[in-house]
Amino acid sequence: MRTPLIAGNWKMNGLRSDAVRLADELARHLPDLHGVEVVVCPPFVHLEAVKQPLTGTAIAIGAQNCADAALGARTGEVAAEMLADLGVRHVILGHSERREYYAEDDRVIAARYQRAMASGLVPILCVGETLEQRDAGRSEAIVEAQIRGITDLIGADGLGAGVIAYEPVWAIGTGRTASAEQAQSMHRFIRECLATIEGHDGAAERRLLYGGSMKPDNAAKLLAMEDVDGGLVGGASLNAEGFAAICAAVPRG
Ligand code: PEP
Repeated sequence: MRTPLIAGNWKMNGLRSDAVRLADELARHLPDLHGVEVVVCPPFVHLEAVKQPLTGTAIAIGAQNCADAALGARTGEVAAEMLADLGVRHVILGHSERREYYAEDDRVIAARYQRAMASGLVPILCVGETLEQRDAGRSEAIVEAQIRGITDLIGADGLGAGVIAYEPVWAIGTGRTASAEQAQSMHRFIRECLATIEGHDGAAERRLLYGGSMKPDNAAKLLAMEDVDGGLVGGASLNAEGFAAICAAVPRG
């Protein structure tokens, strides 16, 4: 049984007061949760500030990245141990913006994944093709290579309870969402690919999120798909009412 997960990626948005206000509003809109796990991922510097307004709710706190090394000499980085110590439970890894703007490759993402696991965090590993790759008919090959690029380095067991988020790059922040059928088709492919890596049982249990312009008005259709176990929500997670509506769109078994 895969518990649906909705994760909000706040990216590099908002000052401290905005983060606290948003967390406050979320606490009001999502006072209790049934049949869905919800996590919000503010920028590092706001993690501490959102803890208080979210206390007493079931909303978990996640981070948007973690270092590829343990505590020590890595100027400018934030270790997974530090995040766990703050009460962070999830961490987004390999987001396309990290891959594109910070040249993160499989090696560094795999190392971050291992550090996250070692600190007891749940990694949310992002994969997805660009528009050019989709138009060239290479979507599945690209996504498979991104998954194997990590599992070849960490081993199938290394995936642990991690979550995979399929985020077609052409749908992120563009307002152009994948159709529910496109999402389901890729999610099914990812699950089949995982079955060859970690076996059928592991693949059947692994949660697969869709991300890319998920909004209150398209969430229900996407989330109703058999292999879509939740969403990674960027822009729409900055509005508490809209994010709560997406959480409410999760089908309850
Ligand atoms: C994201 O960046 O993870 C994302 C899904 O963004 P958006 O929802 O804004 O497309």
